[in-house]
Amino acid sequence: MTTSPFVKLDGVAKRWNGQLGVEGITLDIPEGSFTALLGPSGCGKSTTLRLLAGLELPDEGKILIDGKDVTTSAASDRNLSMVFQSYALFPHLSVAENVMFGLKVRRVPKKERLEKLHRALEITGLLGLEDRKPGELSGGQRQRVALARAIVAGQRLCLMDEPLSNLDAKLRNAVRKDIKKLQRDLGITVVYVTHDQTEAMSMADTVVLMKDGHIQQVGSPEDLYSRPNNTFVAEFVGAPPMALLQSSVLDGFGEDKTIGIRAENIQIVSKGDGRMRCTVTESEFLGAETLIGLDHAGAVGLCVLKPGLSLMAEGSEIDITFHDENLHVFDAAGQRMAG
Ligand code: ADP
Ligand code: MG
Repeated sequence: MTTSPFVKLDGVAKRWNGQLGVEGITLDIPEGSFTALLGPSGCGKSTTLRLLAGLELPDEGKILIDGKDVTTSAASDRNLSMVFQSYALFPHLSVAENVMFGLKVRRVPKKERLEKLHRALEITGLLGLEDRKPGELSGGQRQRVALARAIVAGQRLCLMDEPLSNLDAKLRNAVRKDIKKLQRDLGITVVYVTHDQTEAMSMADTVVLMKDGHIQQVGSPEDLYSRPNNTFVAEFVGAPPMALLQSSVLDGFGEDKTIGIRAENIQIVSKGDGRMRCTVTESEFLGAETLIGLDHAGAVGLCVLKPGLSLMAEGSEIDITFHDENLHVFDAAGQRMAG
């Protein structure tokens, strides 16, 4: 049995005329896992994926796939498939022709092509639509064609770059589940780029959160949520985001630190019994609960969740409390401190 990772990036950097794309990207990806590259626009997610794919060559570092150094290998020699945001389907070809296109180019025999086609359409729920043109399909169906094409390629590694961002919210949810199920059923390794933290948190075994070309934290969704490495991770992961307070607002935390607290760890208490007195800025009914936005000097993003429909008057004052064990303490540079 081998314990070496299926995909390995080691100190990878990419620059264009000195301008940073990504830097110091070191990452081990186990076989059969689902890894999400997450972060705001421009943080280097696509660059990292393109480096893995061989569509860009790194200025520094090494890339290994299945134990083989592919740092300078051509994309076609890396044995992987890709799914992009734009489905990149041929509009004049049918669903079947689109899915089999790569196999035809690689001169796979016709019988094998048809078998693979059938299996891929079965898995993606597209049987019966073989003869349609992309223009006769919904957005979700088109994205499934792109997935089917990646599946027939039969590669153990599949790279996806924001494959759902052209779909509306409902479809996104449905296809999200399809992709996750496919990955599990086929046992393939997926590296998935998204700027949507909900998508990353719900699909991935491991989330890689990036900012300005650098990795901020690598961990399970639960790790990132409950033990953020720094204030950027704290605010990026979770909805609503973690509230951040200047330490001087609370007794016993000294100066120059930042204290993080999540909405679910804050309780509203009777006047005079709280640790902070806040002003209600908004009430947002979410269905199962109501999100109450709060204002307090030295605090950003403070809010509390109340069960059901529970609106509070804007401008009213309430007292809140919380336990120290639920507080996250960050140093002056925003890095997590012990605890
Ligand atoms: P993301 O996918 O996270 O939105 P990208 O990886 O596309 O971000 O981009 C990361 C950074 O690299 C950005 O600052 C972007 O402008 C820059 N970049 C990406 N591709 C190129 C390119 N071909 N030439 C110059 N700069 C690029
Ligand atoms: Mg991108």
